[in-house]
Amino acid sequence: MNNDTATESWLARLPKAELHLHIEGTLEPQMMLDLARRNGVRLPYANVEAVHAAYRFDNLQSFLDLYYQGMNVLRTSADFHDLALAYFRRAHADGVAHIDVMFDPQGHLKRGITLQTLFDGLLQAMADAQAEFGMSTSLILSFLRDLPAEDAMAVLEQAKPWYDSIAAVGLDSAERGNPPEKFAAVYARAKSIGLARTAHAGEEGPPAYIGGALDTLDVCRIDHGVRCIEDAALVARLRDAQIPLTVCPLSNVALRVVDKLADHPLPAMLAAGLNVTLNSDDPAYFGGGMLANFSACAQAFGWNRETFRTLSANAVNAAFMPEDRRTKLLAKIANC
Ligand SMILES: [Zn+2]
Repeated sequence: MNNDTATESWLARLPKAELHLHIEGTLEPQMMLDLARRNGVRLPYANVEAVHAAYRFDNLQSFLDLYYQGMNVLRTSADFHDLALAYFRRAHADGVAHIDVMFDPQGHLKRGITLQTLFDGLLQAMADAQAEFGMSTSLILSFLRDLPAEDAMAVLEQAKPWYDSIAAVGLDSAERGNPPEKFAAVYARAKSIGLARTAHAGEEGPPAYIGGALDTLDVCRIDHGVRCIEDAALVARLRDAQIPLTVCPLSNVALRVVDKLADHPLPAMLAAGLNVTLNSDDPAYFGGGMLANFSACAQAFGWNRETFRTLSANAVNAAFMPEDRRTKLLAKIANC
């Protein structure tokens, strides 16, 4: 067994929690074609190779255009169930023990898919993952930030029958020009309901959006947050408060947030004492799941096992999971 293989198999065994995962972003080309056939949806792709060829992006917007088109094949609760369970199974094979699953209701409501359809499919897949391979999961209801805040508020009210099934609300999609302050009232409402709050900030948007998310949305963690490194005062604030940052290395390369992984600020973020976690974001589109992200970092940065244990423990500590589950996973990580 050579070094790379040994590292890969240890990384696969290391218990991992994923905090930044969009379930719609787990739609693999084959499943996109299968669901299109099942639902009689026309796609502009003849085969898997043609879909793969389309999965080339210059930036966040070019990705989002394809992402919303792909979503169109998801119609029934069985579709959402099959999509989620297929990802949970792949993640389980990657050594993922827990996932905080983000989903974008607005991407489906506008296509006439009801919240009932969505929740029925996702909650059944989550129950199946628990029963079949002991994976714990939670749900983050995410708002599309390029749509009006009033739309987000309406979705939040509409989701009332499922508040007990949601751990948190989130904020994603096109960041530039859609600052966190736009959603202050929605997040205040979510807080009053008792929901935790996360938000994408500092991916393509400026570092000021990270401070804005903390100040006006009262979030418990920041999704991405990599551009914090441009602002020393912000880095100090994030370090002192130990705000978890859900960093997505391969996503950042695919969307050209950085040119190549070796240029990524992750090592600088760790050196600054930031509370960093590793995640896959939209694994079907960005070159792989959790193990691919961990392995790519091992190759690019030469991190040792202690660093990976720290990153995994950071994620477990920040995850939406019961305390007894957290204690068990932290012990497993320490002993891995
Ligand atoms: Zn994301």
